[in-house]
Amino acid sequence: MDPELSRRYLHAMGVPVWRSREADIDTPEPEEIPPPPEGVSQPATPDALHEEDGMIGESAKSAAVEPEPPGGGTEPPPQVAPDVAPGDGVAGMDWERLSATVASCRACELCETRTQTVFGVGNRQADLMIIGEAPGADEDRQGEPFVGRAGQLLNLMLAAIGLQREQVFIANILKCRPPQNRDPRPEEAFRCSPYLMRQIALVRPRVLLSVGRISAQKLLETDRPIGKLRGRWFVFGPDETPLTVTYHPAYLLRSPDQKAKAWQDLIEVAHRLREAQENPGAEPPA
Ligand code: URA
Repeated sequence: MDPELSRRYLHAMGVPVWRSREADIDTPEPEEIPPPPEGVSQPATPDALHEEDGMIGESAKSAAVEPEPPGGGTEPPPQVAPDVAPGDGVAGMDWERLSATVASCRACELCETRTQTVFGVGNRQADLMIIGEAPGADEDRQGEPFVGRAGQLLNLMLAAIGLQREQVFIANILKCRPPQNRDPRPEEAFRCSPYLMRQIALVRPRVLLSVGRISAQKLLETDRPIGKLRGRWFVFGPDETPLTVTYHPAYLLRSPDQKAKAWQDLIEVAHRLREAQENPGAEPPA
């Protein structure tokens, strides 16, 4: 990528870019962000999930979270029981059936409070798949992930490594907004997980980027803090997709001093993508 273009995106992201004073004099501050150049594309699910050069914990699948027992109070529980057990049939679905199934999902109580489901968006054959936490208010209204302020920063982060939003596939751990943006509950993540797993299997990305603590902890089935998860590579699922973690853009908006670390993470992602493109023979089997 053109270093000047990259510098402009970094500037827009709010990442400090150190240059000589001469360069400062010669180059005016960017006012507009030009559209990024053409980038990358092409295709990887969970069973074995381990850190490269060493397993972390057990296999991701075997460590599935137990659902909470339904009911328990005096009030009758809301009618959210799924028609099918979680994951039933989902693993064999094509995009059309999967999106229709998600749109009508009533597998957990979030269906009672959502405006609509937020399936995921982008290139269904993307090299890079980004996995966030759950829709917020904007996403719930618009039916698309990462469309609020955090989404705008995510777009800039992608642009900084030469990728347009449309070139990647973006999804969340949850397809429905938790009320008041509370953290996803274990049962919600458990019931929603087959949808995301099927999306990953269909896209077959070359790289998975997990954004934020919740996404990382759910995908990696760990409670390690994000600071210990980012900056490393893991291997995710039967397709052994490289997975890395970075900070959530909403966190970066609150803690801009962490943007430089996120930028390091993105550089690693860009390297992996370039390696994957230069080595198409290493593509996961169809
Ligand atoms: N935060 C997320 O994790 N996902 C979204 O879609 C929006 C905000």
